[in-house]
Amino acid sequence: MEETKTLVIATRNPGKTSEIREILKGYPVDIRNLDDFGPIPEVAEDGDTFEENAYKKAAFAARVLGFPALADDSGLCVAALNGQPGVHSARFAGPKADDAQRCRLLLEKLKNAADRRAAFECVISIAIPTGQALIYEGRCEGLIAEKHAGISGFGYDPVFFYPPAGKTFAQMPPEEKNRVSHRGIALAELCREFDKVLKWISLQMPVFPKFPCKR
Ligand code: IMP
Repeated sequence: MEETKTLVIATRNPGKTSEIREILKGYPVDIRNLDDFGPIPEVAEDGDTFEENAYKKAAFAARVLGFPALADDSGLCVAALNGQPGVHSARFAGPKADDAQRCRLLLEKLKNAADRRAAFECVISIAIPTGQALIYEGRCEGLIAEKHAGISGFGYDPVFFYPPAGKTFAQMPPEEKNRVSHRGIALAELCREFDKVLKWISLQMPVFPKFPCKR
């Protein structure tokens, strides 16, 4: 019988954990998140790229907990702002601002801008305790709308217009957004390869031989 492996999702967000648990159901994997363990120090998300931040979070959790760990990092890159807010998406408009304030600031910065191209990007990293990691990426291109529309989703969804659907992400039900979103694409790719990922984990995970204790 195939052995069930533990995979830690390096997040305290129950929504993210259940989304991944749902996608990976059927595989011999026991999905946990950081709340299933004792207190663990926070990792500073101070990398210059989504990949760096995703890897930092996954590698730290794997090293501290001794299990393979998965982390993601994502954000919005706007062409007219030279790719900003990018890795600073959550802190755009300051550390205390909320989603609505971040969207307002973005619309303000793009007032009268002719180039409204933008893309959401997501990187997923799966790391093992010794530091090796796999990377999955997803990208979704769209336009920054002239004004907010829709109430679904979170973050920049009300101002991210997705041309193939003719509406913003916040006007889409979650299943529709997940089929085309940066995170959805990265997770689908991971899911397609998950058999190989499990084999890779088995081959790479360090085995610590037990030695007898003198009594
Ligand atoms: P994190 O990777 O979950 O920490 O997300 C970083 C930030 O990027 C979030 O706080 C949002 O502002 C933004 N973001 C990431 N993904 C999405 C999305 O699917 N919709 C809207 N905003 C997003």
